[in-house]
Amino acid sequence: MKIAILGGGISGLSAAWYARKRYPDATIQMFEASSRLGGVIDTGCFHGFLYEKGPRTFVFSRSSHLLELLEELGMSQEILPCSSLAKKRYLWHRGKLRGISSLIGSLAFGLLKELFVSSKDVDDESVYDFALRKFNRKVAELLLDPMALGIYAADIRQLSLKSSFPFLYEWDRQGISLLRAFASSDSSKKKGLFTLQRGLFSLIETLKNRMDLEIFYETPITALMEDGVVAGGSFFPADMIVSALPGAVLGSLSGLWQDFSSTSLWVVQCAFEKGVLLKNGFGYLIPTMEKESVLGCVFDSSIFPRAGDCYFLTVMLRNLGDASWAEKEALLALKKHLKIEKAPIFISSYLAKDAIPFFKVGYAKRLSFFLQDLKIKYPRLHVCGNYVDGVSVDSCIHSSQKIFIN
Ligand SMILES: Cc1cc2nc3c(=O)[nH]c(=O)nc-3n(C[C@H](O)[C@H](O)[C@H](O)COP(=O)(O)OP(=O)(O)OC[C@H]3O[C@@H](n4cnc5c(N)ncnc54)[C@H](O)[C@@H]3O)c2cc1C
Repeated sequence: MKIAILGGGISGLSAAWYARKRYPDATIQMFEASSRLGGVIDTGCFHGFLYEKGPRTFVFSRSSHLLELLEELGMSQEILPCSSLAKKRYLWHRGKLRGISSLIGSLAFGLLKELFVSSKDVDDESVYDFALRKFNRKVAELLLDPMALGIYAADIRQLSLKSSFPFLYEWDRQGISLLRAFASSDSSKKKGLFTLQRGLFSLIETLKNRMDLEIFYETPITALMEDGVVAGGSFFPADMIVSALPGAVLGSLSGLWQDFSSTSLWVVQCAFEKGVLLKNGFGYLIPTMEKESVLGCVFDSSIFPRAGDCYFLTVMLRNLGDASWAEKEALLALKKHLKIEKAPIFISSYLAKDAIPFFKVGYAKRLSFFLQDLKIKYPRLHVCGNYVDGVSVDSCIHSSQKIFIN
């Protein structure tokens, strides 16, 4: 049996892992467009401090598939709980950094409104419309907007509630109080965030090293056929094809979803001499109403309990310019928001291009038509990735595991 895996991010690598478990004797070929595996997962090192260029943290209570995979790989002992300082989060609002917990008091009126609002049976609506219906404008703009920016870097007026926050959608449909559900789900599960001792790229390396896999680097898929794929100018026959390509790439290659939307953002990472930051916590987000180019900032040195003799920060920005624009804007923002006047001792940036699928209202229905059309046109094709069940690394792993369980 021949299995072709398209794309070498975490979705593709975990798909290869489950494929190998299910079909021990299969020939598995992986086709990756770039010269490295991992996709958006990448770990760098500066002055002994390991920093993450893409994903960095996971919530224990929402990472069952990732935790299971780490156990299968013998990596459980590498799980590193993040500092308890990460619990503290801030918002930049009206010229000041404000602790989110201290804002809750001023949102109490809007939050309590949901107790008097009955559920509405809508197939989908925007996160903004949902927040207005259940709470009020202030809760929409100061709680749900930054929460959505932090995960999707997208506008809540267009973002689908059903696809972006499926748990909120379900609680609402079942008439469950969102505040109560939040409180009880939090108290019943293991709290907190974790990362990996040797950085997230160690997961990519371990997956690669533990599998017998034929990898074709710098070999982009250029065409999909019923019985195989065209990559790097050659045809590769396959009995099973697993696409772990970004949604927009598969949409366009198949010709079945040409206008698939994704979001790009700039990630600027900088290190300063120690003692530069007076705040501790996970970082801060900036609500859209503040009209800033920066989406938010993560205080890496505060949340990762790793040794390092500098202070590390990551600034995420909207895609409104080039790399030098992004770095300049990031430093200006750090000066304005955190009063960091000193020049960084390290700075680097990259554009996470089309890295996050944009789940617009009606996305779930559109996705299900796409998947049905794919099945008809390419009977051997299966799909996984961050546009299938959710954007988190855990959801990506789940989407690839499901292919080989059913
Ligand atoms: C900045 C950032 C921070 C994030 N933070 C978190 C976090 O803290 N926690 C969390 O859980 N999630 C986080 N996420 C989301 C999560 O990291 C991603 O959704 C997930 O890693 C996507 O994995 P993937 O394998 O599906 O896609 P990708 O990582 O995008 O991999 C797709 C692969 O396909 C390859 N490819 C593309 N076109 C072709 C082609 N034609 N032929 C062959 N190969 C091709 C690409 O080169 C790439 O290697 C973050 C995402 C970003 C961008």
